[in-house]
Amino acid sequence: APVIAQVPAGSATHCPYCALQCGMYVTDGQITPREDIPANAGGLCQKGWTAAELLSSPERLTTPLLHGRPAGWDEALGFVADRIGAVRAEHGPDGVAVFGGGGLTNEKAYQLGKFARVALRTSQIDYNGRFCMSSAAAAANRAFGMDRGLPFPITDIDRADAVLLAGVNVAETMPPFVRHLSEMRAGGGRLIVVDPRLTQTARRADLHLQVTPGTDLALALGLLHIAVADGHADLGYLESRTTGFEAVRTSVSAWWPERVERVTGVPVALMREAVRILGEASRAMVLTGRGAEQHAKGTDTVTAFVNLALALGLPGREGSGYGCVTGQGNGQGGREHGQKADQLPGYRKIDDPAAREHVAAVWGVDPADLPGPGRSAYELLDSLGTPGGPKALLLFGSNPLVSAPRAGHVAERLAGLDLLVVSDFVLSETAAMADVVLPTTQWAEEAGTMTNLEGRVLLRRRAAEPPEGVRTDLEILRGLADRMGCGERFPTDPRTVFDELRAASAGGVADYSGITYERIAAETGVFWPCPATGAGEEPHPGTPRPFLDRFPTPDGRARMIAVEHRPPAEDVDEEFPVYLTSGRVLAHYQSGAQTRRIRPLTQAAPELFVELHPELAERLGVAPGDMVRVRGRRGAAEGVARVNDAIRPDTVFMPFHWEGVNRLTNPALDPVSRMPEFKVCAVAVERLAGE
Ligand code: SF4
Repeated sequence: APVIAQVPAGSATHCPYCALQCGMYVTDGQITPREDIPANAGGLCQKGWTAAELLSSPERLTTPLLHGRPAGWDEALGFVADRIGAVRAEHGPDGVAVFGGGGLTNEKAYQLGKFARVALRTSQIDYNGRFCMSSAAAAANRAFGMDRGLPFPITDIDRADAVLLAGVNVAETMPPFVRHLSEMRAGGGRLIVVDPRLTQTARRADLHLQVTPGTDLALALGLLHIAVADGHADLGYLESRTTGFEAVRTSVSAWWPERVERVTGVPVALMREAVRILGEASRAMVLTGRGAEQHAKGTDTVTAFVNLALALGLPGREGSGYGCVTGQGNGQGGREHGQKADQLPGYRKIDDPAAREHVAAVWGVDPADLPGPGRSAYELLDSLGTPGGPKALLLFGSNPLVSAPRAGHVAERLAGLDLLVVSDFVLSETAAMADVVLPTTQWAEEAGTMTNLEGRVLLRRRAAEPPEGVRTDLEILRGLADRMGCGERFPTDPRTVFDELRAASAGGVADYSGITYERIAAETGVFWPCPATGAGEEPHPGTPRPFLDRFPTPDGRARMIAVEHRPPAEDVDEEFPVYLTSGRVLAHYQSGAQTRRIRPLTQAAPELFVELHPELAERLGVAPGDMVRVRGRRGAAEGVARVNDAIRPDTVFMPFHWEGVNRLTNPALDPVSRMPEFKVCAVAVERLAGE
């Protein structure tokens, strides 16, 4: 068996979970936080503190499974390679699909994209990040010419005078982030939160704008209307640093505040106060998260918030700006290196001839042999096993049975495949359906780089011994490539892969060519873009604030784009009279495949629940602790009732860390980002008889 790569080892590594990528030491299975990483500066949340339990989990897979029975690596990889060959022979290269994840290291994301396009020559690759922050990425690309979550160091928040969070619940998703908000408020700064729920983050806010689900876009238009009407637009900035303001001003003129109040439910006085706080601040930030982004109009919603930030003159000014609070551990890096259907490494467009030529040269292939763009994540899952769709799927670092919208339908599609291969370190719900399960190493057992929500490239060191029998994803890809006759193109050492990634990214938007493992270790992270410099020249310092002088658009200006509000893809009606919105809880991460295996976390949050307002509960005859069924057009889920007035009376909330809520969510897609509408659909709620 291959030897697991040994470089670089050391106890200083990073958390397995969210995009904050808190620094931690892992020593003999014990975790202590690192002080040297600014994002967490000595803090961790309960997920991070307990992450070492993953390393010794009794549910750990240590041998491949072939149709449910233990098998040797040779047998399992041989079976997969044979089946891939048969599917390709019958259906062509696009008969095989690849699905990646936003938690994979940069090296794995890069290698997965290369494996799909060079070894399999399939266009059918996408990843679960499409379900995460793709709308913010699309909006940032079209406004700024670059998508880097926070285009400033997170510590800039500490010194801001005002921060608006739209659909961001950091108090539960990434608690050490709250320190930065607390620091800001301790210095006199004000916090504004837009959310249909009085979340733990909203409880810390000076203003809470409790929007009706699916109306964030109307709210952003209303805020911009007020900003212009009340004289808060920075006309000098708009003239010198943006284009498109006049069209945007015209489009928001119809969104007078009383109309916005009727649509969103947010009182005019609160909107005016929010704009006054932002408009009078010397340093202010507008930040979006999944609550604003996971809609069939998510790109336009984020664009409206970007327009607000631009009208106030914030992006590209030190201490101010617009940013997206990325969710998954490598949500940022995961979308830069080529596991996305429409991208090549370096955040290059796959249909750009110059990009194809550059990457093909690094890969040693003919640009004409590189496939074109493939299907987006949900479209890919929906096409599996259908006429013209892929018949085999290789899945890495994802659990779509729990995390994809209309999950019952996705389960049917997965069941209809000729071959489902899942690489994971535990038997997730999706792995349990697979023909072949390949057991992998996990976070602290392997080296690699992660790019956190600031665009800071970090080094995850190998800090623990993996159990015997498991392999890294890089080794798995090599094993398959060997059997396909192109193994030498797929090295297994993360540093070697990173060096190739640097070359592939050179000259791209996300240029990593000047970043090395040594520099990351010495500088506790390097911000991209960081191009390589010539021999004898000073190394590029990295770019903490990329927009200070100009935006990376052809004319150097940010583009304001007029957008219009529209209702959710599925609105409430007589049959389904209640909005359902989904989200996260403090104790769990994503589909819960990891955190539902950690005892303190399952004790803290043991089960799926349905949060509903006392008025709605009374109307339905539901008491706290009752089992309720939530039913929609695509399926149903059951959960324990939690009754509180933190939620609007017209809305129920369910976390998506357990199987259930995504049986109900709507796969209506954003036309630009192809993001599904996770955050709003229509349901009926009933108390279960006999309970
Ligand atoms: Fe930090 Fe996120 Fe890990 Fe919590 S889950 S310790 S916030 S990286």
